[in-house]
Amino acid sequence: MFDAILIEKTEDGSRAVLATVGEDRLPPGDVTVRVAWSTLNYKDALAITGKAPVVRSFPMVPGIDFAGVVEQSSDPAYRPGDKVVLNGWGVGEAHWGGLAGKARVKGDWLVPLQPPFTLRQAMGIGTAGYTAMLCVMALERHGVTPDQGEILVTGAAGGVGSVAVAVLAKLGYQVVAMTGRPEETGYLTALGAREIIDRATYTQPGKPLARERWAGAVDVVGGHVLANVCAAMKYRGTVAACGLAGGMTLPTTVAPFILRGVTLAGVDSVMCPRPERLEAWRRLARDLDPATLEGLTTEVAMADVIPAAERLVAGQIRGRIIVPVGPD
Ligand code: NAP
Repeated sequence: MFDAILIEKTEDGSRAVLATVGEDRLPPGDVTVRVAWSTLNYKDALAITGKAPVVRSFPMVPGIDFAGVVEQSSDPAYRPGDKVVLNGWGVGEAHWGGLAGKARVKGDWLVPLQPPFTLRQAMGIGTAGYTAMLCVMALERHGVTPDQGEILVTGAAGGVGSVAVAVLAKLGYQVVAMTGRPEETGYLTALGAREIIDRATYTQPGKPLARERWAGAVDVVGGHVLANVCAAMKYRGTVAACGLAGGMTLPTTVAPFILRGVTLAGVDSVMCPRPERLEAWRRLARDLDPATLEGLTTEVAMADVIPAAERLVAGQIRGRIIVPVGPD
C-alpha cells in the first residue's frame, strides 16, 4: 500500500483526495518505479483543482513528472536500483502519474537520471525546467545569440519562467523578466534578470507592430501578452511559446511574421522525441547552476499538495514546488 493523490469523478466535475492505494491498482507497464520525488506543475494544478479538463480517465493519479528508483522491470534497458526520471507522455493525464508512492510506466517513457543531479534536483527542475530548456534550445536553433540584444521571459516568477531566466542569464543573455508580481523583483534579479517589467504593460490589446525591442522571448502566458511580445520582436527574432497561463487565444496579426520575419516557435514537452529530451537534460546539467536551482525550489508535503495546487493556479507560487514522496 502507498499514499497517492487520487482524482475522482463527481457529479459536477472532479475532486482530489489523499488516499491509500494498493499496488494491484497500478496501470499496466513494463517498469515499476518507487517514486522518491514528484512536483507540482501548472498542468498538475489544473488537474487537481479541476479548473481545466486535463484528466482523461478517472480515477487518476496526477503528477506529470517523477524521479525515483526502479523496483521491477521487464524492459532490458532498466534494472532494479536504476535511478530514473519521467516527464510527460500523458502520465498524470491519461496514465497514473507521479504523485504516488509507486508508478508503473512504459520503459520508453523513462530517461536515466542525468548526472550529477540527485533525484531531488531532477524534480527541482521537473517538467517546467525541462520545458524551459527546450525553449532555450528553440531560440538557439533559430539563431538567437547573446550579442543580438535583450531576451524577454514572461510569467518569469513561475516554474518555467524562473528556470528560463536562470539558464539564459548563465548563458550570457541580457534577460528581461516580465511578472505580475513586482514583490518578486529581488528573486528575479538573483536569478539573473537585468530588468523587471510589469506584466500589465502587455495584458491589453496592442498595435500589430510595436517598437522593436526583443531579440528573443520565452512566453508561458499566451493571449494578449504573447500578441504584444510578437509585435515588439526585433527583425528576424524568435519567440519560443510553451504556455497558456494567461489564456488559450492568440489575438495577433500576421504583421510581425511577414514584415519582420519573426519566428513563433512552438514548444511541446509531452511528446518531445527522446534524443531532444536527453539533450535538454544534458544541457540542464551544464547550464543551470545547482545553487540557483536550490533557490527557486520549495518543498510541499503530500498532505499539502491539494491546497498548494489552488495557490499555483491562482499565480501565487514562486519558482518550483517539489513533493517528497518516498526515500531517495
Ligand atoms: P506556474 O509556475 O504557475 O507559472 C506560471 C506563471 O505565469 C505565474 O507564476 C505567473 O507569473 C504567470 N501568470 C499566471 N497567471 C497569469 C495570468 N492570468 N496572466 C498572465 N500571467 C499569468 O506554471 P509553470 O509550470 O511555469 O507553467 C507555465 C505555463 O507553461 C503553463 O501554461 C503550463 O501549462 C505551460 N507548460 C507547457 C509545457 C509544454 O510542454 N508546452 C510544459 C510545461 C509548462 P508572474 O507572477 O511572474 O507574472
